[in-house]
Amino acid sequence: LSFSVPDGPIGPIDDNTFSPYAGCRRFDQLPLSQKTKQGLGEKYTVMSDIQRASLPHSLCGRDVLGAAKTGSGKTLAFIIPVLEKLYRARWGPEDGVGSIIISPTRELAAQIFGELKLVGKHHGFSAGLLIGGRKGVDTEKDHVNDLNILVCTPGRLLQHMDETPNFECSQLQILVLDEADRILDVGFSKTLNAIISQLPKQRQTLLFSATQTKSVEDLARLSLKDPEYLSVHAES
Ligand code: ADP
Ligand code: MG
Repeated sequence: LSFSVPDGPIGPIDDNTFSPYAGCRRFDQLPLSQKTKQGLGEKYTVMSDIQRASLPHSLCGRDVLGAAKTGSGKTLAFIIPVLEKLYRARWGPEDGVGSIIISPTRELAAQIFGELKLVGKHHGFSAGLLIGGRKGVDTEKDHVNDLNILVCTPGRLLQHMDETPNFECSQLQILVLDEADRILDVGFSKTLNAIISQLPKQRQTLLFSATQTKSVEDLARLSLKDPEYLSVHAES
């Protein structure tokens, strides 16, 4: 997979709100911490379309609904703002859960976790993959309160909320739903509602999926604040 640098400056496709970083094409043009820049390294230099459209907004702390097809680089479009949000808040070991990333399947959650470990390796945050399966939930319970970033499936996250003593996410800074259309689907709705009801409303929320979520009901249930709708389609 490769991303070309277009000739002219191109801004976000659907840019309602000004951002001083609209039109940036490379990661090193964004206001990122050195630690994140090091994590991006030589592997990631030029932003993909969805990254270019969403990062100027998400890095300003805005809520974002991003839609772009599979393989377009949505993972970095939320991992980077998660790292930067906690870094700017000087999040530390004592601060507990600062970010939750929810994915519909174990496999996708594991992929996200791998990318987070790569790009976030120079940061000091602790991150955990809570997906059930292999490791027992009891083993996780001993550690889950020490984690800053949780990458999880809805069922396992709710299980910890219900069963893990002192499980705390009242200080949550940033919530991500990846494959949001699938998570917001009826199959998960009870679980998701139970999760959302335990999260603070004052937070940043990022939703990414292959199709644009339009349900007003869903957006209300997630307490989105004046979100940026960014939809990116293939250019050729
Ligand atoms: P999506 O979630 O939209 O399906 P992914 O985040 O899984 O896409 O990314 C697909 C692939 O593209 C991954 O292998 C990833 O490493 C690569 N990729 C993402 N962003 C960039 C970039 N800016 N430059 C080069 N490769 C990228
Ligand atoms: Mg993805």
